[in-house]
Amino acid sequence: MSTDNTTGTTQDVNTLSRCHRCGKKYRGRGEWNVEMRRGVPQWILCPDCQSPEENAEAAINEAMLHYGRDSFGRCLAMPKGISL
Ligand SMILES: [Zn+2]
Repeated sequence: MSTDNTTGTTQDVNTLSRCHRCGKKYRGRGEWNVEMRRGVPQWILCPDCQSPEENAEAAINEAMLHYGRDSFGRCLAMPKGISL
């Protein structure tokens, strides 16, 4: 059902705009997961590609972590209960 007007190369460097597994384009809707490593977003997963484990992990992260951005626009994750 994708009607993407895809132009350019198949090598999309912007990993945060497409699903890491199926390549579906993120349109700002749905329960997408952001895979974080050391507080840095690595890739995103669409709802169809998330395993139950990943869903659970995301729920735990959401309960435990604050997400925000620093002054450079980088994404940060901090444990809740800690304020800077
Ligand atoms: Zn996907």
